[in-house]
Amino acid sequence: MAAARLSRRDLVTVMTATEIRSAIRPDIKEVWRWLEDVPDPEIPVVSVVDLGIVRDVDWEAADLVVTVTPTYSGCPATAVISFDIEEALRRRGIEKIKIKSQLSPAWTTAWITEAAREKLKQYGIAPPLDGSTCAGALKAAGDVACPHCGSLDTEEVSRFGSTPCKASWRCKDCLEPFDYFKSF
Ligand SMILES: [Zn+2]
Repeated sequence: MAAARLSRRDLVTVMTATEIRSAIRPDIKEVWRWLEDVPDPEIPVVSVVDLGIVRDVDWEAADLVVTVTPTYSGCPATAVISFDIEEALRRRGIEKIKIKSQLSPAWTTAWITEAAREKLKQYGIAPPLDGSTCAGALKAAGDVACPHCGSLDTEEVSRFGSTPCKASWRCKDCLEPFDYFKSF
């Protein structure tokens, strides 16, 4: 008993204030792993990390600062994303969270990870084509593969799909409709 008390007191005396703080602060890498479990509100098969929405995580004094870039300005999901991130971190015991919105550089579909592109396909959404810059340039930019059968014989049905960042497409081979995640 006496020995246990002694060692605990020793521990406190040798640890500086900074060391104690870092001991109770989770590692940034750990925080990134937690954020990988926060789904995108519009496409729940991919996380906010998969989509490249979370740009940075860092400690600023006692605050955990998460820098977020919305997929496009005025996206109604942005407020939901900030809320979901805060909720997820609070569940892990982090009390002081700041969500910083960073509009520049603007989010681009190029930030979507390879793993997320695969998940989108499995979900029935054609992932954005690299190199095409907007929905208007899409047809010239080339071929959107059908996420169901892989055929390139596809056509745009409507520029606006179930959400503003998606367009409605149809496969002329398997005749299935699908969403195309617009590239921008
Ligand atoms: Zn098809």
